[in-house]
Amino acid sequence: MERPDLYKVLEVSKGASQEEIRRSYRRLARKYHPDANPGDKDAEERFKGIQHAYEILSNPEKRREYDEGPRNFFGSQGAGQGPTQSANFEDLSDLFGGGFGNLGDIFGRASTASTTTRTPTKGEDVTVSVKLKFKDALEGVTTRVGVPVEESCGECRGTGAAPGTAPRTCPECGGRGVQSRDQGFFALSTPCSRCGGEGRIIEKPCSVCGGNGRIRSTRQVKVRIPAGARDGMRVRVPGRGSAGKKGGPAGDLYVVTRVEEHPVFKRRGDDFVVEVPVSFVEAALGAQIEVPRPEGGTVKLRLPAGTQDGKQFKVRGAGAPKTRANGGERGDLIVRVGVVVPKKLKRREREILEALAEERDEDVREGLFRKVGSS
Ligand SMILES: [Zn+2]
Ligand SMILES: [Zn+2]
Repeated sequence: MERPDLYKVLEVSKGASQEEIRRSYRRLARKYHPDANPGDKDAEERFKGIQHAYEILSNPEKRREYDEGPRNFFGSQGAGQGPTQSANFEDLSDLFGGGFGNLGDIFGRASTASTTTRTPTKGEDVTVSVKLKFKDALEGVTTRVGVPVEESCGECRGTGAAPGTAPRTCPECGGRGVQSRDQGFFALSTPCSRCGGEGRIIEKPCSVCGGNGRIRSTRQVKVRIPAGARDGMRVRVPGRGSAGKKGGPAGDLYVVTRVEEHPVFKRRGDDFVVEVPVSFVEAALGAQIEVPRPEGGTVKLRLPAGTQDGKQFKVRGAGAPKTRANGGERGDLIVRVGVVVPKKLKRREREILEALAEERDEDVREGLFRKVGSS
């Protein structure tokens, strides 16, 4: 193919200085930037051509090579003619005033491929759930959970290469992880087919991990569940997720609590709600009642005379213990009174109630009928 004249592309003379090249590049890049020419394929091609020309001409060494000769600059897969080096491109954000968001897309594609693959990568975060008894959640507990993780392979120490051997630099891409292909006007970079973009190849893979460097396993992790844990709470255990890749840090472990329901105490935020049945006589006359506490034991509560069904009383500080999530405040115990009406009356009870009805001018013979508004 015909070699494009990079000086023409950048609209500079052969003897242009670095500063002239830079200035011209900036001017043209601004003019043909895809964001300034939405949907304009020609402008986009032009823009890429400008990128490529600048990549070569801004680098004295590459420029010399280009000046020297009829080498095919684009199809080359030798170590020297790599993909776009982002370092060659100055930050253009000032140029476009931040309004051009996809610069990274255009500049970065090739270089990201070569840099990210060999960059140490954090291991995956792992989430597991743990079932907790009501009491354990309330008081806090240290428990063990089985965590499915990718662990660094002990056999090869995470390198993926059989013991006694080491991964070596990929000869195909020179360790860059990408190959440049001739794609008409500009060079297109694709992940190296030999090493899959890793930049390194393993000739004799570790027999334990198959060259992966990590192995699946279930790790037992001790987790401290804080007192007052509620259902669905996430407890983070830093660094106990999957092993990192290429020397990166391990991911984190998240333990989601599943708290068993209590037959009596229902959690509401940091409060506990307990339903306490009282007789209609207790409700009418007032009474001293004993209410169970979530942690065991009871608390005495004085019901005033004339307590209505569904009335709630608050026992301060008898709810869930302090957690960071509730700002260090201990929750309350909410006592909900349920007035119970007897289903059956003894004869004597019936007589007393009939006398009461008479006293209150309530017509018992009419059964449930009562004039609305009377009491
Ligand atoms: Zn291994
Ligand atoms: Zn390669």
